[in-house]
This record gives sequence, structure tokens and C-alpha cells, in this order.
Amino acid sequence: AKQEGKGGYRFFEAAMGAQIRERRSIEHDLHNAIDNGELSLVYQPQAQLETGEVFGFEVLLRWNHPVRGLVPPSVFIPIAEESGLILTIGEWVMRQACQEAATWTRPLSIAVNVSALQLSSDGFPHLVQSILKETNLSAERLEIEITETALVRGPHRALLALQRLKVLGVTIAMDDFGTGYSSLSNLQAFPFDKIKIDRSFVQEIHTKPQAAAIVRAVLGLGRGLGLPVIAEGVETPEELKFLGQEGCTEVQGYLFGRPVPINELTSLICDNVVV
Ligand code: C2E
Ligand code: CA
Ligand code: CA
Ligand code: CA
Repeated sequence: AKQEGKGGYRFFEAAMGAQIRERRSIEHDLHNAIDNGELSLVYQPQAQLETGEVFGFEVLLRWNHPVRGLVPPSVFIPIAEESGLILTIGEWVMRQACQEAATWTRPLSIAVNVSALQLSSDGFPHLVQSILKETNLSAERLEIEITETALVRGPHRALLALQRLKVLGVTIAMDDFGTGYSSLSNLQAFPFDKIKIDRSFVQEIHTKPQAAAIVRAVLGLGRGLGLPVIAEGVETPEELKFLGQEGCTEVQGYLFGRPVPINELTSLICDNVVV
């Protein structure tokens, strides 16, 4: 048994070593990803629940690594956050998304994910203002999605940044609501315009009564606070029906469209497309 334990430990050490090397390798390659043109954006439709009308898109980052292929955001975003690279990458995402959206003939909105480190970085609201000006995108078309981690880390800086962004006309959505460091008081203390229910709850609406109860409660909260609620990860007509019955007004998920590169959305973003 002792032998086995030792072997197990060595195996564990070796695995840890491999994991650390893997992380370093990803971080190293991520440094060059922007310059090498390996990053791109995909857009996922957000629609009115009642009419199915698409009013905007969530912007999601993709990294096509020359050797590894598509690296999932769940792998590289945490590494980008821990290494501080998210500042450069996030600025690229914001500029690229605003540039792309500014060319559409229909004034649809874009919802850009902003990480905690970005939000509390020096001059973030000013950076957004510059990008809006430089790309000529109207601030009303930009929404930023913030998770509660961003508020916990530095509540004062976060509040100031959000207030400045709101003055510009940018809207603020609370992302992944109900997961992580949720606190209801955040909804009162910070100037949110929208609540986004996380996919993990929506997916279990019909398999876990607790998930259905949470979704119902968040929708009630939104109603009480006068904030629209968007449900993420809607995949089935049954999920959509439940959400509609409970008063949800906005939806996003594979049922309405997967995230795709912008050139696959021409008919949605432009009027009178000539092919
Ligand atoms: P998120 O902000 O919660 O984004 C929603 C994720 O759910 C996306 O995964 C999207 O593709 C996926 N999704 C949407 N609808 C469905 C559905 O119906 N079914 C299923 N199974 N999945 C659905 P993705 O693109 O892999 O992004 C994962 C996370 O990476 C995002 O979670 C976000 O936290 C982060 N992320 C992505 N792009 C950026 C970015 O530009 N900046 C920052 N800071 N984070 C980003
Ligand atoms: Ca999001
Ligand atoms: Ca989510
Ligand atoms: Ca499901």
C-alpha cells in the first residue's frame, strides 16, 4: 500500500508538472496570438422572446492556434486573466467588435464580455470612449457584460467605472447571475441595466426543480427591480415555453443561433443585401 501511495504521488507530481508546462506554453503562445492574427470574434444572436426578433449579439472570442486548433475560451481566458494579458486581448476584442458593428446597416447591439481586471484597470471608461469615437459606433449600441467577480475584487473602482460608462450611454448587464459570488445587494449598489441568467440554470429547468425555482426567482427579481432579464443557453422549445410563461422577455441560445463569424450573419445585420 505504501508503494502504491508513493507511485500515486509521483504520478500526481508528474501530472502537475505537465499541467504547469502546458499552461506556460499556452500563455507564451497567447502573447503572440493577436499579432499573428489568430484571434477572431463570433457573434451569437439575442432575441425578443415574444417575437423572435434579433436585437443584438453577444460577442465571443475565438483563438485558432496554429498547432492546437481551436482552444476553448474556458482554457485561455483564465490564463489571460491571471497573466494580465486580458488587458491587451480585451482591448482588441472591444475595438474589433465596435469596428465590425459600425459597418452594419441595421443598428443592432453588441454585448461584449469585460473581465474584472479590465473593468478596474486605469482609464477603462476612457478607453471605451476613445474606441467608440474612433469607430464611430453609437454608445447606445454597446453593452458590456460583467460578472460579479468584477465587483467583489474592487467594489469602489468598479462602481466608478460603471458610472462613467453609463454616462457615455453604454448599458451594463450582470452576467452569469446566480453563480459565483452572487449577492442581491450588488443589484442595488451597482447601476445594472439587465440581468443575464446563466446557462447552467436554464439547462436544468426540466430536470432539476431547484433550477426552475431559481430561474423563476430571478425573473421575479427582474420584474420587481424593473430590469429586463435575458436567459442564456436556451436550447429547446420546452425551455423557451417555460421562460415565456414565467415572464422572461429576452433569450439567447442554440435554439436561436450558435455563435458564428460575422460574415455568416449578413442577412441579419444589413438591410437590402445585394448578393
Ligand atoms: P459566457 O459569457 O457565459 O458566454 C456564454 C457561453 O455559452 C459561450 O461559450 C456560448 O457559446 C455558450 N452558449 C450559448 N448558448 C448556448 C447553448 O444554447 N448551449 C450551449 N451548450 N452553450 C451555449 P464560449 O464562447 O465557449 O465562452 C465561454 C466563456 O468564455 C464566456 O462565458 C465568457 O466568460 C468567456 N469569454 C468568451 N469571450 C470572451 C471575451 O471576449 N472576453 C472575456 N473577458 N471573456 C470571454
Ligand atoms: Ca457573457
Ligand atoms: Ca454564462
Ligand atoms: Ca437542455
